[in-house]
Amino acid sequence: MAFFCVFAESANLPRNMIENSMFEEEPDVVDLAKDTTAWPPSTFPALDPDEITYEPRSSRLLVRGLGENDMDEDEEDCESSARLLGMSFMNRSSSHRPSSSPYTRQSPSRSCSRPTARTMVACVLFLVIVASMTMVLYFLPGCTFTKDGCPKRNKTTPLELVYPLATNGELFPWTQLRLPQSVHPLSYELTLTPDLDNMTFAGIAVINMSVLHNTNRIVLHGLNLNISNATFKIGDGPASNVTVLQYKANQQIAVKFTEYLKVGQYCVLTLTYSANLSSTYDGFYSSSILAATQFEPLSARKAFPCFDEPAFKATFLIKINRKQNYTTLSNIGLFQDEFERTSVNMSTYLVAFVVANFSPISKNVSGTLVSVYSVPEKKEHTEYALEAASKLLEFYNTFFDIDYPLKKLDLVAIPDFLAGAMENWGLITFRETTLLVGKDSSPLEKQVVASVVAHELAHQWFGNLVTMRWWNDLWLNEGFATYMQYLSLQEVFPELQAENLFLSVRFRVMDKDALISSHPVSTAVVTPEQVEEMFDSVSYEKGASILLMLNAYLPGEQQFRKGIIQYLKQFSGSNTETNNLWDSLTQVSTPHQNVSEMMSSWTSLKGFPLVSVSRKGDEVTLTQEHFLLTPANASLWEIPVTYVNDSCSTFKVPESVKWLKLNYQNTGYYIVDYGDDGWTALINALSTNVSILTFEDRASLIHNMFALSRQGRVSFRRVLSLLNYTYKETETAPVTEALLQLNNIYRLLEKRQEFDLMSCMKTYILDHFGALMDNQTWGEEENLSKQELRSALLSMACSLEKENCTQSANDMFKQYVSNQTRRIPGDLQQVVFSVAAQSRTDWLILYDMYKQSTVDAEKRNMLLGLASTQDTQLLAKILNEGLKGDVIQTQELPLIINTVSRGFAGYLFAWDFVQVNWDRLIEKFLVGSFAIQSIIKSVTSPFSTQAHLDQVKAFFSSLQERGSQMRSVQEALETIRLNQLWMERNLSTLRELLTKIQSQPQKEEPGVSH
Ligand SMILES: [Zn+2]
Repeated sequence: MAFFCVFAESANLPRNMIENSMFEEEPDVVDLAKDTTAWPPSTFPALDPDEITYEPRSSRLLVRGLGENDMDEDEEDCESSARLLGMSFMNRSSSHRPSSSPYTRQSPSRSCSRPTARTMVACVLFLVIVASMTMVLYFLPGCTFTKDGCPKRNKTTPLELVYPLATNGELFPWTQLRLPQSVHPLSYELTLTPDLDNMTFAGIAVINMSVLHNTNRIVLHGLNLNISNATFKIGDGPASNVTVLQYKANQQIAVKFTEYLKVGQYCVLTLTYSANLSSTYDGFYSSSILAATQFEPLSARKAFPCFDEPAFKATFLIKINRKQNYTTLSNIGLFQDEFERTSVNMSTYLVAFVVANFSPISKNVSGTLVSVYSVPEKKEHTEYALEAASKLLEFYNTFFDIDYPLKKLDLVAIPDFLAGAMENWGLITFRETTLLVGKDSSPLEKQVVASVVAHELAHQWFGNLVTMRWWNDLWLNEGFATYMQYLSLQEVFPELQAENLFLSVRFRVMDKDALISSHPVSTAVVTPEQVEEMFDSVSYEKGASILLMLNAYLPGEQQFRKGIIQYLKQFSGSNTETNNLWDSLTQVSTPHQNVSEMMSSWTSLKGFPLVSVSRKGDEVTLTQEHFLLTPANASLWEIPVTYVNDSCSTFKVPESVKWLKLNYQNTGYYIVDYGDDGWTALINALSTNVSILTFEDRASLIHNMFALSRQGRVSFRRVLSLLNYTYKETETAPVTEALLQLNNIYRLLEKRQEFDLMSCMKTYILDHFGALMDNQTWGEEENLSKQELRSALLSMACSLEKENCTQSANDMFKQYVSNQTRRIPGDLQQVVFSVAAQSRTDWLILYDMYKQSTVDAEKRNMLLGLASTQDTQLLAKILNEGLKGDVIQTQELPLIINTVSRGFAGYLFAWDFVQVNWDRLIEKFLVGSFAIQSIIKSVTSPFSTQAHLDQVKAFFSSLQERGSQMRSVQEALETIRLNQLWMERNLSTLRELLTKIQSQPQKEEPGVSH
């Protein structure tokens, strides 16, 4: 799945917001975590293993044996430890500077032929004290059983089973959220009859199953289904009526038998039922013109009774009865309205069907019929998606060395759709904004479509063909699809310059992962809310980041690819855990490398390391520690690290080498502190010649410096001394990163009403970037990177009310209103509409235009403009319209709230709105969902005072089961505390520095000493 909300900490900043944002914090689809307490059938061969019931589950950090090799000087150990660190670095020697590139990436397998390039090998000692173990949880449905109180765990005697009551008053024969393993589904035959007029549907589900262990019950999922009839038969025996029990708290249904079903038997359960079409965005839902599905992660159970866990794969035969004026689509090819049985086993969350009046364009690609569907009036906007999907399908067929297994691939733009897209096998569903672009759309708009298509297509292998066993390893789906999305784009559409986007999403996920409220990539999850919460940037972008790091580290171009081909082939059609992937990569490695050992800490620990560099003479010492913005138990990780060169001795750099930069091109998932001297050397080098470092390295210096400042490790004075070089910066990534960071601070100052400081800061920003802002043009721009750059610069300039910027934007809007054939370039639309929306008259004009526009990308930019007004009446109007869902679709509400929250007039307003409407919001978007995560972050991140912290805390603790336990709430509280702390620590310095800088003649270097 791909998400489509926008979270940006920064305000009107750049490009990220809309398009990128979808990839920043918006995860796609999620897998549920795998539950290690599930009963492997082999463990309990005799009895029904499900009977040996529940152990309380515990979730804990796994910290694998990094400690054993401590201080071992043995070369092999040194090497493996170095791999753990996965570092690359570069430096510059004044005497040995290669003409082409001043730095060289290090890798242990290369010789040190250049003094400037060294392999880093590290001996690592990890003394890991896991300070906290998360609570042991009983997943019994509260205390609402037939006995008083919750059962106590007793280690010596088996637990007494206490069953909950089913809706009919009988005992429900299962207590856990995860299903028993004794019966597995083989195939489903579903007949569905939607009634769009009455918002209901009727269904018949015929489920063929095999019995893996003797058992006297079948337990599966079903939610809000009115089951009117149920029959059961064993093998070819006679069918008899059975009673279906329902237990709503666990979203399960069950049939109990007086006699045991025997291992090896086949049986068939046939259920006739009806239900309401959902009015939200999950399950089988309907909007004005269509009915469609969104099942991931846990909503297939709302459309048909099923074993709704990713490891219960089966085939599906789907029949849909519909009215004559509609067409239907489902996973496999259409045969009248009965779809062929799926030729592949698939998980329930990948099943999909759509009933609508859509028309396609199609193309045959290597034996697969690729089609793009939209509402008929937008058919002309489908061509680019068809072209992108065709090229990417061919790329993946080759890259994975496995052909896409179905005969057709439909991509459908759904007018009402919450996620960015969903990778249902053979029937990928999209938001209109992520699939449809006009002929004259800008490269930036095409990048959005190509990215999402690339992501969802990658899922056809990573996720659909090979599926994570449980949602704890969602990252196996989402991290991979996210990584492949960038990798394939760089190969297939290099002109879309996806590298800037990928770099910035890596910075953003590190910002989140530096919070103590973050979580490991692989995290135990059980409840539906926990499963929903896995769909976050840690699963998506951190997953992608560690794969990038691994790919960059493994020797040779193809080793990574060979490993994933091995993985896909070995596990084709089945389910996997994280270690299966590492094992496949280990198997193909030459020379042999234990990838599992190297990667385990990156998936089992939250956060990432900070590497500190110090140089004494020609010796370089690197130390490593957990980088946390909120200081935790200081002894949580204590990691003395020594670094050596390729002969595993002390690592040396001649004193003539002036500076040293680690994490070359920022492919590693860690940040670096160079110490006073190291930073000074880098800053001096940059002030002499910007191009001594790649743009990725410059952007990463800026990002790392701000992170260190936020943690309190470096002074803000130091930050400004680094930024001093940006007078000369013209590349997109460093400029956008610097603007985003400065804007974050600017917006916090605004919310604290530090108007004098804001004015100083404005002067500072314009002083550093004003010339570059003035250089930007307002015409059509073909180069995508330049579009991103000018969009960031002009957004900032206009939000600071730089006069020539607002003037140009207003002129452009007026021309557009008088002659709408004069299109505003896509990358400038948000700036222009946001400026226009500051005038009430123009806001109303824009609102009318929004209602009439059918160009999705433009419509979205108009909405961003509308939501950026500082007129409180208009803000109220747009928030309420978003909730109502007539003029503005409710799927846009998270975006509206995000935009409103950034403005001075709106941030308190948005917070109020969310509190007042909380119940309606969680009804629309589900507790824990990406949309809810986004909303919480948007409304709370502008706060930096104790009073607001108390308010936020009080509100969420009042919610109880309506969301108080969400991780995003912890994240919000931590963020406010950090904002508060930053202000306390830096306000006076900032005042002093900025005032001083303001009074200095422009362009004078503030100096690097401190
Ligand atoms: Zn996805």
